[in-house]
Amino acid sequence: MTRAPGLVALEAVLRPLQFAARDDFAHAARVQDLEGSVHAAAEAALAAALPREVRVVLASVRDAFAKPLDEKARRASVERALRRLGPFATAAYAEGALAASPASLPGVGPKRAGVMARRGLDSVQALLFHLPTRYDDRRALQKIGSLEVGTRATFVGRVLGCGFAAWRGGRGSGGRMFEAVLGDETGTVNLKWFRGGEAIGRVVVKDAQLLVTGEVKRYRFSKELQHPEVEAQADAESATGSRAEIVPEYSAPEGVHPRGLRRAIASAVSDYADLVPAWLPERLARTRGLPTPGDALRAIHAPGPDADVAALQARRTPHHERLILEELYLLELGLALRRARKSVAASVPIASDGPRTRAALRALPFELTGAQHRVWHELRQDLARAHPMHRLLEGEVGSGKTVLAYLAAVAVAESGHQAALMAPTELLAEQHERTLSRLARGHAADPLRIERLSASTPRTHADLVRAELASGGVDLVVGTHALLEEGVGFRSLGLVVVDEQQRFGVLQRAALGDKAAHEPHTLVMTATPIPRTLALTLYGDLDLSVLDELPPGRQPVRTLLFREGEGRQVADLLRETVARGEQVYVVYPLVEESEKMDLRAATESAERIRAAFPNLRVDLVHGRLDAVSRAEAMARFESGATQVLVSTTVVEVGVDVPNATLMIVEHAERFGLAQLHQLRGRIGRGSKPGTCALVARGVGEGSEARLAALLATRDGFEIAEADLRIRGPGEFLGTRQHGRLPDLRIADLARDVKLVSVAREAALEAVRRDPALARDPELVRAVRARWGAKLALADVG
Ligand code: ADP
Ligand code: MG
Repeated sequence: MTRAPGLVALEAVLRPLQFAARDDFAHAARVQDLEGSVHAAAEAALAAALPREVRVVLASVRDAFAKPLDEKARRASVERALRRLGPFATAAYAEGALAASPASLPGVGPKRAGVMARRGLDSVQALLFHLPTRYDDRRALQKIGSLEVGTRATFVGRVLGCGFAAWRGGRGSGGRMFEAVLGDETGTVNLKWFRGGEAIGRVVVKDAQLLVTGEVKRYRFSKELQHPEVEAQADAESATGSRAEIVPEYSAPEGVHPRGLRRAIASAVSDYADLVPAWLPERLARTRGLPTPGDALRAIHAPGPDADVAALQARRTPHHERLILEELYLLELGLALRRARKSVAASVPIASDGPRTRAALRALPFELTGAQHRVWHELRQDLARAHPMHRLLEGEVGSGKTVLAYLAAVAVAESGHQAALMAPTELLAEQHERTLSRLARGHAADPLRIERLSASTPRTHADLVRAELASGGVDLVVGTHALLEEGVGFRSLGLVVVDEQQRFGVLQRAALGDKAAHEPHTLVMTATPIPRTLALTLYGDLDLSVLDELPPGRQPVRTLLFREGEGRQVADLLRETVARGEQVYVVYPLVEESEKMDLRAATESAERIRAAFPNLRVDLVHGRLDAVSRAEAMARFESGATQVLVSTTVVEVGVDVPNATLMIVEHAERFGLAQLHQLRGRIGRGSKPGTCALVARGVGEGSEARLAALLATRDGFEIAEADLRIRGPGEFLGTRQHGRLPDLRIADLARDVKLVSVAREAALEAVRRDPALARDPELVRAVRARWGAKLALADVG
């Protein structure tokens, strides 16, 4: 099946030719008006944006079939046309042509192509999808011939002549001025500068194309402008080959001349646009009224005189929609294929209604919330299947995710298998181990056997844990993400729980399964409320469960914003809090680049607090501290032995101290909103209301607005969406550092959230009808070419 309109046009030429040639030309005589149809089809195909080499052949085919031929000539022409045109009408040809270096474009030499390639514009296709960043709308421009004296006007003209001239005013005044004559096809006008001629003369040079704005005056029999604003213009005519009224402007990579880039893109569009395949289901394109990709590219790169420039600039046109959906469709298909492949993998079914699991549920120190019940039900259903579970559990900090992981681990243990829980940091692993052990102790009759294994586990103990894991003596092992990469052998790993907090692993989760004969069930937990559509794409191969209800009895948290210089008020808050016998977190951001400085700031802060409150016990916790001291400090805070815990961001990852009611966040402007919201979730855990004091230092208006959004709402999803809107998905997801967000060319997961669902629906539908897309190998190839490596799709299709 051919997907590019250009190829469809070529096939229309080939079809009658092939028909005539069938069975060694046995039916050739019966083909009605072969010449006429081939001629017309070739003529039509010549209108498509196809490479020159194709158009040359098309023209010769058209000419060969311009008039009726006798039998012999007909046969020769048909054979020749088939031979020459056939190779072009293939997806492989189109693919190769689009992937070719920009040097294959007329007017682009190898040198310029080399510079472009180093900047990512390494193929014809890359140029086609390098969309304009803005448009220069010249429709409102006036013609020089119709300039009206006494009005302000903007127009474009070419410098016909320029230079310095003497001028003489009244009463002996006079001097030197810079003068230029500008013209267009309707007339000429004079421009004059009585000062600054040297500078102006660098822009106003002979033959330069200028955009001029200024007051039109009369001078004797002609019109002139004095000291107008002028701006050198790229030559619109030479850029597009016609007098474009709306000229696209591109961000040109360093070393690439903007005009050269514009020309290269213009010729990519005119020679290659119709080779771009359309993968979107035709019905979808039709119902949404979308143009073909070729038409879309033309409309975007070379808008017609009636185009809506504002919409083009905002990238909100059916043309953009087409390109965005094409891109998202391939991504979603990749995700769907990956998911389909995983769902056929074998896993061990886990029964979750045995006596041990039921007893563990009864032994919990609280009733599950409605949301927890619902999610537990979802987990049980997944676990019972013979295919691996792949589920994402989204829930704010404190919504009770760990309890669910615990219950799942008990069910897995009861079925005779083991579970592993992996946290992003050692500190969090420690925290999880404490929480889980506490839950296990509550079930004294048959507690889950839990061990922690990490880089800091003493050697002899680590060896012991490894042996126990291999023999089945340990039910649940808790560690960091490195856990499974370190040659740990399980007797039978049935469940992997990944706690990602606010990190995101879009894709590479492939390695998790490798430790087991059967693929283990996977539960990914995250505390960042990712908008659903985004979650579905980022974790496209996971099912989604949401804990949208906090356990009862949580106290509302008051959020206050302080600015630099309001330290006294913050100190007062601290004093009042400890006077009530409650505890305080002081959190400093820790950014890798400035780790030393941030650490020093936290250390100094601890010192200051100790000096100001000599009766308080103050501890400092940070990632550089060894595991033992860290665990001790956390334990002291949990038990109430210390009143103030100063830390780098680590507390966000899961401390649970109901008596802590004040959180002071230093440099709040450096945190993401979602992150701050999570931090805030750490207080108000007990029966007393909590306060979160955000201290913003030296912030601009932008970050102030961001922080204000946090004061306005407590809804995590709303905050996540605000974060997404303000910072964009890369920042929001922290992917600047992690580089895990699929690198989309045109689509923007935040802006195009609605289109993500459209593409996703279409992809699911396609895979539902044809699970491995076996009927469409070309599409599978396209998905793999675009996303294969990133989605680990190597063995798909
Ligand atoms: P998360 O992992 O989502 O941050 P946790 O599972 O650590 O949340 O739970 C946070 C706190 O709430 C823990 O102290 C836990 O014991 C408690 N908790 C969890 N579920 C409930 C519930 N249904 N009722 C009361 N407290 C709960
Ligand atoms: Mg937790």
